Amino acid sequence: MDISVVVPLYNEAESLPELTAWIARVMKEHDFSYEVIFVDDGSTDDSWKVISGLAKEYPSVKGVSFRRNYGKSPALNTGFKEAQGDVVITMDADLQDSPDEIPELYRMVVRDGYDLVSGWKQKRYDPLSKTIPTKLFNATARRVSGIKNLHDFNCGLKAYRHEVVKHIEVYGDMHRYIPYLAKNAGFTRIGEKVVKHQARKYGSTKFGLDRFVNGYLDLATLWFTGKFGAKPMHFFGLLGSLMFIIGFISVMVVGFGKLYQMYSGQPYILVTDSPYFYLALTMMLLGTMLFLTGFIGELIVRNSPSRNHYEIKETI
Ligand code: UDP
Ligand code: MG
Repeated sequence: MDISVVVPLYNEAESLPELTAWIARVMKEHDFSYEVIFVDDGSTDDSWKVISGLAKEYPSVKGVSFRRNYGKSPALNTGFKEAQGDVVITMDADLQDSPDEIPELYRMVVRDGYDLVSGWKQKRYDPLSKTIPTKLFNATARRVSGIKNLHDFNCGLKAYRHEVVKHIEVYGDMHRYIPYLAKNAGFTRIGEKVVKHQARKYGSTKFGLDRFVNGYLDLATLWFTGKFGAKPMHFFGLLGSLMFIIGFISVMVVGFGKLYQMYSGQPYILVTDSPYFYLALTMMLLGTMLFLTGFIGELIVRNSPSRNHYEIKETI
């Protein structure tokens, strides 16, 4: 099979028939063999009923229905597990992404050899309250992930080589950083294509402004787990040792300073009367705690079933 189109959706009943017809038209024009996998993320409207109807009408439509609303990432992850096509395309259900982009995305993966091609909504039809924070978000994501050529990490329209979706795990709200996940999994040929974007036709957006706060927190998590996930002591140990040493030296300075003043007959104050003593003490305590966090982290890693799981590309 050439293409799997994975569509996560939550309460998008009105858009689905139009989207399906449009995808089918594009696929037919280009003679692709394909499947459309709708992952209904616990919709409370008629979405699932509509999908069941579409599955009868179109043999290439498949559907998975969650018992409750888990989020876009779990929906994508489930779709990825099901996908059988050589190229997997993800696309939002709300008709903001255009199926007309599919043939070119397919070509970029198959002919140009990209592992992942991300859409770039260069001209966006979203409110300003969303487009401005998005710019900032993408700049940060580029820096942290080191994927310098992407302008739009969270674009719903993306194409993947089959292996990529089978080797990454999208969980929580990590759909915003799939290129980073792919890079961490060793898929580094990541490209971009400018895509058409449209205003939402039916329904309303499913994400509020909290997406930006959560987005930054998730980025911090990814940076940390990518760099230190397998060796937490290298992070906590270094930080803890540094803090402890600085604290220790400071305590010594305060203590010996007092002794020196005492024996050289100068006026002196009690160590416990100096604010530096308490600062130093706090540093030592925090340092010790960070160090111990490192140990606990190492114990957790040691018990993780995936601690020695590596993705092998080839053997000879
Ligand atoms: N979506 C989902 N589960 C959720 C929230 C959203 O499957 O909990 C789907 C939604 O139906 C749509 C896509 O994710 O197909 C993108 O959502 P939306 O269009 O609301 O986001 P925006 O375009 O505003 O970024
Ligand atoms: Mg949308």
